[in-house]
Amino acid sequence: MLNLPQVLPGIYIDGTWLQGNQPLNVVNPSTEQPLALVAGADHEVVGQAVAAAQQAFAGWSATTGAERAGYLRAIASGVQARRERLIELQSSNNGKPLFEAAIDVDDVIATFAYYAELAEALDAKQDSPVALPSEDFTARLRREPCGVVGLIVPWNFPMVTTAWKLAPALAAGCCVVLKPSEVTPLPELELAAIIAQCGLPKGVFNLVCGTGLAVGAPLAADPRIARISFTGSNAVGVQVMQRAAETVKGVSLELGGKSSLLVLEDADLDLAVELASGGGFFNAGQMCSATSRVLVADALFESFLERLKARAESIKVGDPFADGTEMGALVNQAQYQRVLGHIDRGLNAGARLVCGGQRPENTPHGYFLRPAVFTDVPLDSALWCEEIFGPVLCVRRFGSEAEAIARANDSEFGLVASVVGGDVANAERVANALQAGLVWINAPQVIFPQAAWGGYKQSSIGRELGPWGLQAFQEIKHVIRAV
Ligand code: NAD
Repeated sequence: MLNLPQVLPGIYIDGTWLQGNQPLNVVNPSTEQPLALVAGADHEVVGQAVAAAQQAFAGWSATTGAERAGYLRAIASGVQARRERLIELQSSNNGKPLFEAAIDVDDVIATFAYYAELAEALDAKQDSPVALPSEDFTARLRREPCGVVGLIVPWNFPMVTTAWKLAPALAAGCCVVLKPSEVTPLPELELAAIIAQCGLPKGVFNLVCGTGLAVGAPLAADPRIARISFTGSNAVGVQVMQRAAETVKGVSLELGGKSSLLVLEDADLDLAVELASGGGFFNAGQMCSATSRVLVADALFESFLERLKARAESIKVGDPFADGTEMGALVNQAQYQRVLGHIDRGLNAGARLVCGGQRPENTPHGYFLRPAVFTDVPLDSALWCEEIFGPVLCVRRFGSEAEAIARANDSEFGLVASVVGGDVANAERVANALQAGLVWINAPQVIFPQAAWGGYKQSSIGRELGPWGLQAFQEIKHVIRAV
């Protein structure tokens, strides 16, 4: 088991660990017992972190892409070397089963390795000529780091959401102030300890743990910050954007979702059930990309529902550290109550609970919930329209593909979608009609650093991962010279 000191310093600025004066109680959601006390920061510390990053920027932004790639590879190796501990920290702090935590840690390694390649490739592309329709001028294109950036992340994939921002920001040549979620700071504290050993110049990477109001809000408002990259809820995303607007800083936002999985008439039923279960219950459904609406062709509806019920009831819920656990705990009491509230309101609105939605037997402690499947969910109910962020699937039948597409697109969100169908050309056509930033066909929610992450409508502003994730941290400069 983890061996943590009782009070952890929650601040890393200019290469030095500091104790803040705002204690954060970090709880293990599987046991409801305290895990650690993190000495978090108040708003004044944010200014110190930004100043350190600003001081470091001249030197760091002048490094070559190849030099930065070296540091990114060192971070990837450091994460690989502490893989087991990071997995344990993720499971202890977030409640997810060990196998899911392992996927997270491997994603972090892959992300740093990928952006090391992109950083290296920058050198050859720098100052590339731009064709002009004139012989009197020449032009060259430079991509320069946008400055000091603030990274604010949530609790559902600690370290992963951080890596998706931190790796491209460092690759671009930006200096960083990172604010982890106050609910799950432990994985990021370990990541910071790894980074501290990689020899990055002081002030390039800074971390400030604390609450949203004490740390996130002043970070978003600080005029010395060039860009805020935020992942979290829409309510907070709006506040971050408003604060950032005051000093016209760029924002990248990764917010909520209400995504659909479409089971077409010629779908393989077993595959459809597996994908629905994975899309809805992975990470206990606490995913912005949860495919929480399942739309099933009329002809398959009854047998699909029966098999999904059987699959949901078979899911082993419990101790994330136990062999065979498929679903762990929800992250904390507040989230647990929020999801139970959604279930209650769904029942009051007339939705039919097919299975689950209660605390499993033999779990007297911990925020455990049996995966829930609903049907007959009214289209105007919160259960159908709002992000639940818990293990709750709403299944609905459709008569025509046009109806299914319209139902899927009828949302203020547009993050991801999934299609299950036998005729590949048809499934591709349906995918093209869906308003979502990423559509999987006959596939689980696989994520590659090369493919963009982000969505339409109120799900996102901008894209993470791929070259787009890097461009978010770059300014474009053209230099035009008279010949
Ligand atoms: P949250 O919005 O409550 O918090 C996110 C982060 O913002 C935390 O670090 C928090 O401390 C900070 N924060 C809170 N108030 C702030 C303020 N006023 N100013 C600045 N920062 C502030 O979200 P959460 O509950 O941690 O995470 C769940 C949400 O995240 C869900 O809505 C989910 O959809 C979203 N999410 C989206 C993606 C995506 O890629 N689109 C990924 C993961 C999570």
